[in-house]
Amino acid sequence: LVATGGASYQQTGSKGDGYRLAGRLGHSIIPPQPALVPLVVREGWVHALQGVALENVVLSVKSGGKVRQSGEMLFTHFGLSGPAVLNLSSYLTKSFSFPLELSIDLRPELAEDELIVLMRQKIKQNPARSLKNTLNGFYPLRLVPVILVQAGVDGSKQGAQVSRWELERLVKVQKNLTLSVSATRPLNEAMVTSGGISTKEINPSTLESKMIKGLFFAGEVIDVDALTGGYNLQIAFSTGYLSGLSAGKLLVQCNKGITQGIKYNVTIKKT
Ligand SMILES: Cc1cc2nc3c(=O)[nH]c(=O)nc-3n(C[C@H](O)[C@H](O)[C@H](O)COP(=O)(O)OP(=O)(O)OC[C@H]3O[C@@H](n4cnc5c(N)ncnc54)[C@H](O)[C@@H]3O)c2cc1C
Repeated sequence: LVATGGASYQQTGSKGDGYRLAGRLGHSIIPPQPALVPLVVREGWVHALQGVALENVVLSVKSGGKVRQSGEMLFTHFGLSGPAVLNLSSYLTKSFSFPLELSIDLRPELAEDELIVLMRQKIKQNPARSLKNTLNGFYPLRLVPVILVQAGVDGSKQGAQVSRWELERLVKVQKNLTLSVSATRPLNEAMVTSGGISTKEINPSTLESKMIKGLFFAGEVIDVDALTGGYNLQIAFSTGYLSGLSAGKLLVQCNKGITQGIKYNVTIKKT
């Protein structure tokens, strides 16, 4: 029963041995690649945001296909991480090519015109307050200068002096903060490895190899992976249970056969 995991986080002992073993026995291996992995971005300004976490954002990629994820994200010294980013990455490594443009909607609950109305209300409440301080009420402090620079608006201006054009620019950036993603972090930093032993060659009712009697597979070594939320652990638990049960049943059958005088020929082929 091969349950050697994937090939990421190799310090845990999972180094892809199962792929090599199954490959030598004739199984097809879908090339392992990172899934649930942080993203590397080109923009230097992310470095200043290291450690800033955002909740309830929507991330989308539109170049070469369309994919979006919502939830929490985190800026890191190299780019982006956090649950929404990790989930997005699993789609990107499978169906997209890098570099690609990623858009962050910082206020997905509001349409552009609603956000303009909200900003006008905030400015009206305190027209003498600087634009920077007005925005500080909306976002983490370190993110505000980034929004202002991207919008090309002077944050020291009093709210009352902000033109309609400037307000529209600010709203556009909040709804569509774009970043250029150059790559994912390496496989070893992925929470999960996608790819692995082809499911086409495994009996789904028993998890026994369709090619070699008595060979079973469980967990991440199989070509299955899922988004964050405990689903990968569930895959490991469920496939572990089923393959263990199936292997046990086969052993019982074999033992019965032996007591009834049936001979089993096992050939071990050196490869
Ligand atoms: C940092 C991190 C956080 C994660 N968080 C989550 C989460 O929140 N939710 C979720 O669903 N999933 C999460 N995962 C993924 C989840 O842990 C894995 O998908 C799951 O553990 C896979 O189980 P497995 O038994 O197939 O493989 P593993 O858990 O990798 O176990 C394989 C075992 O086989 C051993 N082994 C490997 N090769 C050999 C060999 N040749 N001989 C003997 N032993 C060998 C390894 O040492 C290891 O103990 C996370 C993973 C990481 C790295």
